[in-house]
Amino acid sequence: MGKIQLQSVTKAFGGVKVIPDLDLDIENGEFVVFVGPSGCGKSTLLRLIAGLEDTTSGTISIDGKDATHLPPAQRRLAMVFQSYALYPHMSVRKNIAFPLKMAGRNKQEIDKRVDNAAKILNLADYIDRRPGQLSGGQRQRVAIGRAIVREPAAFLFDEPLSNLDAALRVGMRLEISELHQRLKTTMIYVTHDQVEAMTMADKIVVLRAGNIEQVGSPLELYTKPRNTFVAGFIGSPK
Ligand code: ADP
Ligand code: MG
Repeated sequence: MGKIQLQSVTKAFGGVKVIPDLDLDIENGEFVVFVGPSGCGKSTLLRLIAGLEDTTSGTISIDGKDATHLPPAQRRLAMVFQSYALYPHMSVRKNIAFPLKMAGRNKQEIDKRVDNAAKILNLADYIDRRPGQLSGGQRQRVAIGRAIVREPAAFLFDEPLSNLDAALRVGMRLEISELHQRLKTTMIYVTHDQVEAMTMADKIVVLRAGNIEQVGSPLELYTKPRNTFVAGFIGSPK
């Protein structure tokens, strides 16, 4: 579970093609990082996969099934938003439980899944606090917890650490990598931070103006960048 395929995907906003024609295969369990300069289409691509935007043409399949026209709730993907998307008036428990409540799950199952997520994320001691009483890193963990309880086929992260200070970012980066090793669930992670891309990814997708410039492991991109754009982005001194 967690295999995602994009075939000839295009996206236009008001006649402007932001994604001109894109093919991409993401394997089950991979940690894939989308990198590229601001405005190159990283968020749009993630939102297309999540179903938050409709494709203009092309197909998106998830685990071999055509998902192009499925609403977000039926794609079994969890988008992790930045921590400020938490509900300030709700406890950590209620914030994490929220998607399950919306899905109409019973209380016993909700409690079980929330407790499990809190344990995985070291949030058990903070479960009754509100977001305002937490550190930035703890808040980000709550946002991740809200995705974990849905047991998604893949997690989608859109620059989840960009709000955090440098020290916290390093810690959260390690936590997300650890989470991936533990859950072995497909993760797609958008960032413009080269260090995050190089240290977290199994596979890096370098985007430029909605096109894929190169796809490869961090080592491949570092040692064999296809052009100066990729080299400049990955930071090899070529
Ligand atoms: P990135 O996440 O890489 O910074 P985005 O995917 O947000 O880039 O944006 C890619 C391009 O699409 C930009 O030129 C942006 O202005 C445009 N764009 C994104 N969303 C919309 C929208 N809802 N309406 C019109 N243009 C949009
Ligand atoms: Mg973006």
